[in-house]
Amino acid sequence: MISTELIREKLSSVSYPGYSRDIVSFGLVKDIQIENKEVRVKINLQTTNPEIPEIIFKNCQKVLSEIKGINHPKIDINIENPEKQTAINETKLNNTKIEGIKHIIAIASGKGGVGKSTITVNLATALSKQGAKVGICDCDLYGPSIAYLLGNTQSPESNENDEIIPQKAHNISFISMGGLLSEESPVIVRGPLATRYTQQFLRQSHWGELDYLLLDLPPGTGDIQLTIVQTLALSGAIIVTTPQELALIDARKAVSMFKKVNVPLLGLIENMSWLENENGKYTYPFGKDGGKKEARKLKIPLLNQIPLEPLLQQKSDAGIPIGGTDEAFAQNFQKIAKDLKEILTKE
Ligand code: ADP
Repeated sequence: MISTELIREKLSSVSYPGYSRDIVSFGLVKDIQIENKEVRVKINLQTTNPEIPEIIFKNCQKVLSEIKGINHPKIDINIENPEKQTAINETKLNNTKIEGIKHIIAIASGKGGVGKSTITVNLATALSKQGAKVGICDCDLYGPSIAYLLGNTQSPESNENDEIIPQKAHNISFISMGGLLSEESPVIVRGPLATRYTQQFLRQSHWGELDYLLLDLPPGTGDIQLTIVQTLALSGAIIVTTPQELALIDARKAVSMFKKVNVPLLGLIENMSWLENENGKYTYPFGKDGGKKEARKLKIPLLNQIPLEPLLQQKSDAGIPIGGTDEAFAQNFQKIAKDLKEILTKE
């Protein structure tokens, strides 16, 4: 017996190209009609990539023709203009809060590899040690590292309301957006589509009550970063940089992006500031005080200078954040957590 339920069930085995999620749970199947064994399915897509509808069309045809009695299913794919849609959503969602979350804080860097994700995770655990409920959203679709840094790379599940349930590790709730993509083809998620999914992941997640949600932004000042900072009511942003000029050039760009959209700059963290050798002598592989001076110039608080510490790198690789532990080095993060709390209460 051909029924809409059976067709829906079959279509839910078709995943959106590049994602582990299927087209039914993404809400793309808009209508299913059956008349005298003739089946017609309507699918709405928002994409500029011509390969997406083609792949979905073929896969739908394949699964539907597995149902006995269906010969030539009609699959209508309607492609909406994603740019137009994003613009509409942006005005609608502009500057909105996420229910249950007190502070949403963006952690940004101009450049990759400066330690932004490491600092995000260790700051989160330091805040948690001080009694706060903390979540992290890893907004990097292409190079997610939060899950690895927290030692839990399982994909999040969704609940009956189609909300994503964040994973938990070290008392931190987190979602790595990249973890929701399949490994083969994340490159298709570009431009408007990337910002759309970023928004969807952020808003359709069941975060519960949180004091802080830290957003680990992808490095740079592109589409995704801009959408997030424009459309969410952020309490502020933290800039992470290393001390050398090459990193500072990009950090300045990130600062001006936040200024343009009136997001308060809560502070700057200089990372990899020095290396202490066995004799207690300091060397400065990336120059001395570059971030500190920059913070002064930009008139934003310097939250801390964090030295290079092999233990931090080793523990990070092992998926163990030390920010909330009694290790001496954890003080670096606990100081930031304490100051951040004060800065936010003054705002
Ligand atoms: P980003 O998020 O900016 O790309 P990561 O957080 O992934 O950077 O850090 C890049 C590498 O540097 C990681 O291997 C991390 O363990 C290491 N790292 C970051 N900060 C420090 C530090 N202060 N001391 C030692 N290693 C660090």
